[in-house]
Amino acid sequence: MNSMYIVANWKMNGDQIFNSHLITTIEKNSVINDASHMIICPSMPYLQQINTQKPSYMILGAQNISQYDNGAYTGEISAPMYSSVGVNHIVIGHSERREYFAESDALLAEKVNAVLANNSTPIFCCGEPLAIREAETQNAFVENQLINSLFHLSSEQLLKVVIAYEPIWAIGTGKTASSAQAQEIHAFIRSVLAIKYGADIADQISILYGGSVKAANAVELFSQPDVDGGLVGGASLIATEFTAIINALQ
Ligand code: PEP
Repeated sequence: MNSMYIVANWKMNGDQIFNSHLITTIEKNSVINDASHMIICPSMPYLQQINTQKPSYMILGAQNISQYDNGAYTGEISAPMYSSVGVNHIVIGHSERREYFAESDALLAEKVNAVLANNSTPIFCCGEPLAIREAETQNAFVENQLINSLFHLSSEQLLKVVIAYEPIWAIGTGKTASSAQAQEIHAFIRSVLAIKYGADIADQISILYGGSVKAANAVELFSQPDVDGGLVGGASLIATEFTAIINALQ
């Protein structure tokens, strides 16, 4: 049985006052408070602040990681360092990292390894740009991302990975994949995992949808059989929207 997750990706937003108010308001209004699958990924300087303030059912996550554990890598943060401050869930391969920071599939495979070696959880993002969707070749595109960055893992390792399918054309654009489009490609992703690892393993992997998830579409998206929650950007910064999305998991 796979788990449902909502991951809040705050990106490079927030300040101490804003963060504090957001966490307090989410806590006050969420009906889900024991699922342990609400992961908040603030900007790195605010990890300690959120860790101190958050209720225990909120899990702290990070938006990026180094592939190395330590050394002369100025500005980088490693899996053991994150763990030492209570961060054990790491987003890897967000399309903004792939696009603006030239992160390749090969590099992302190394980052996945670094996170797993530290007994932490990679939240691995995949998803196609608009031109690929328009050419209707999104399945092959996403399959290659999975093969290149995940398929070196053992079954045991894969079971620790959460996958987030995020079509780039839907991220921050207000355009959402329809629930049918999301279900179709999530089922495809699961079938690709099943071919490599077997159906039993594939069925246990959580596959989240990301791309303009909001209060208005969350219930329908999350009710799809192969959509196991969401990765939420813009709407995670608006307390009323985010609590409605969390509550849509019910
Ligand atoms: C994201 O940042 O991964 C994302 C899905 O953003 P948004 O919800 O704003 O589209």
